[in-house]
Amino acid sequence: MSASLKKQLKEKFADNIAFDIPLKQKSYLKIGGHAKYFLTLTEAEAIKDAIGYLREQGLEYFILGKGTNTLIKEGPLNPIIIQLARTTKPTIDLEKNEITYPAGILLMQAIKIALQHRLGGMEFGIGIPGSIGGAVKMNAGTYLGEVKDVLKKAFVIRHSTSPSTNHLAPASQPPNLTPLSSSSPPSVTSQNHTRITEEDAISLGLEYRSSNLKSSEIVLAAKFALSPLSEAECKLRKKTVLTTLAKRKQTQPLAANSLGSTFKNPSQNLTGRAAVPNSEKLFAARLIEAANLKGVRCGGMSVSTQHANFIINDGSATATDALRLLELIETTVYKKFGIRLEREITLLGW
Ligand SMILES: Cc1cc2nc3c(=O)[nH]c(=O)nc-3n(C[C@H](O)[C@H](O)[C@H](O)COP(=O)(O)OP(=O)(O)OC[C@H]3O[C@@H](n4cnc5c(N)ncnc54)[C@H](O)[C@@H]3O)c2cc1C
Repeated sequence: MSASLKKQLKEKFADNIAFDIPLKQKSYLKIGGHAKYFLTLTEAEAIKDAIGYLREQGLEYFILGKGTNTLIKEGPLNPIIIQLARTTKPTIDLEKNEITYPAGILLMQAIKIALQHRLGGMEFGIGIPGSIGGAVKMNAGTYLGEVKDVLKKAFVIRHSTSPSTNHLAPASQPPNLTPLSSSSPPSVTSQNHTRITEEDAISLGLEYRSSNLKSSEIVLAAKFALSPLSEAECKLRKKTVLTTLAKRKQTQPLAANSLGSTFKNPSQNLTGRAAVPNSEKLFAARLIEAANLKGVRCGGMSVSTQHANFIINDGSATATDALRLLELIETTVYKKFGIRLEREITLLGW
């Protein structure tokens, strides 16, 4: 670790910066090295200021949500790992039936909060263990729906090379986040055009498990348009949450160290291809299973026998084991079916 960089970051970020932080426990897969620099940020203005500063200094950073979709390499990691605090509370507008959640809040917590206020619509996220920020970035979802179905606006830190190329609406003020500085225009910093924008699902390019957000861009908060529920409807929805969770537990290894679905479901249609099961939709899990990969192991990592699109750490796996298994699945499925699986998970450190 560079002593001068450490000193520089300490001067800039004071107690918000920490050094040599193990990331293993911050990853759902329980794999990962340590962050040389770990920055915790809470308020919109501070986040925007920090990002502007890091970019000016040419320092690489990575935004980590709950780590439920990120495979982290072992060893010391050079990028500054940024995590948004989970302490900020959501803003609930019962007149408009909208809730604005800070990015650090967990999706499961967001569902609970919505139902506590008799607002429905967040249940698309049942069983997804990630944060709101990660969910927007990934357009997370289940068979019940996905982020883009109910997202009204997200407050996002974007960058542009020139303020005049900006076609995105600057944010008036992200609710429940620190007010933007009144002395400077809220949309653009003078040096590198880091600004907070207010964007809908189309502007964010939300599609199946993807968005157009670059790795340097950050979701600060997300506002969801929800539906008011009668007491009886709300009771029913709460029951649905429990039954859906129970159903997921039967078919997916939710309690294991995993990253959820490893690969996206390919868009091509299976029908007509030799040696693959007929299906209306091409599920990655079916391909992996049909390639006889269930239970296949690389060191401490294996393909789940319960759900073939989950890869699982038995507690002893290394990041190299995980990467080897990913590559084995990809090459085997390609050789057998001529289909290239696309990774849903994010890799950090390679
Ligand atoms: C058991 C299990 C079940 C799962 N089931 C599902 C499922 O049913 N459906 C589904 O869609 N996913 C599922 N997932 C995957 C995962 O939970 C989602 O992709 C989730 O949205 C990731 O959120 P996170 O906070 O953990 O993101 P992380 O893993 O921390 O990060 C994922 C990506 O998002 C970026 N990111 C994180 N926070 C922000 C932010 N504030 N601003 C900008 N970028 C950010 C990261 O840089 C990274 O690129 C599952 C995972 C597990 C472990």
